[in-house]
Amino acid sequence: MTKIALITGANKGIGFEIARGLGSSVATVLIGARDAPRGSAAAQRLRADGVDAVHIPLDVTDEASVAAAAKQIEQEYGHLDILVNNAGIARADGDERALDPAAWAPSGQSVASIRAIFDVNVFGLITVTNAMLPLLRRAEAARIVNVTSEVGSLALTLDQTSPYWSLISLGYPVSKTAANMVTVEYAKELWETPIKVNAVCPGYTATDLNGHSGFKTPEEGAKAAIRLALIGPDGPTGGFFNEAGALPW
Ligand code: NAP
Repeated sequence: MTKIALITGANKGIGFEIARGLGSSVATVLIGARDAPRGSAAAQRLRADGVDAVHIPLDVTDEASVAAAAKQIEQEYGHLDILVNNAGIARADGDERALDPAAWAPSGQSVASIRAIFDVNVFGLITVTNAMLPLLRRAEAARIVNVTSEVGSLALTLDQTSPYWSLISLGYPVSKTAANMVTVEYAKELWETPIKVNAVCPGYTATDLNGHSGFKTPEEGAKAAIRLALIGPDGPTGGFFNEAGALPW
């Protein structure tokens, strides 16, 4: 049976390719996007490729928008099989400086900028998950996948042989560490249910988020999320993975 999958921030980048991957295999994909023209255009592009895609207006920082999205999904589909919390930002709007990692130093980042990042990457993730949980509980065995990042791994950031040793910053990495813990807490709450909750890292992927400096394509970056969204009853919950396997917290 076709599954219903909601992907937040699916109008471009990794989220768009997660939608394409899930849509080409098993799901009707709901393109969660805050901008109506961008969201509709993305859904249209996927439909032209044979994917059953529908735009759902969704700003993860706006509780009314998230509630309206949940209501629309309930009215049109009655339940939700897959939630991919993919929407994310690395810098506050207008904070062009922050594209330069040298300007990411903890002592140089404004609290306003860090708060804006947390609004999307942490509080947005929680807002969407809580709003969708009643619909996910109605599915036979729902999956929640949170797109976080290895830069949020405490183990890797303290490993001097890791590429993340040289990244010293507050907003983005700390938000992804929090999103990892949020993943674990939902997994524990839902431990005795068929719902599985995992975090994934796409790897360094060329998208608008990093000025297209990543070395993976968005299609490659989408692979881990697609895999975890489709795990069976014996699959993990409360884990952190990239395309190659488990990652350290
Ligand atoms: P991207 O191309 O910039 O896409 C980000 C998406 O999030 C866009 O669709 C954007 O929508 C959406 N978004 C931002 N704020 C939102 C909000 N308030 N409400 C709803 N949607 C919102 O970046 P990406 O690289 O594909 O990032 C996707 C996820 O992967 C993020 O969580 C990111 O942290 C994670 N990640 C990326 C990399 C990488 O190397 N690229 C590595 C590790 C993890 P608009 O178009 O409206 O702005």
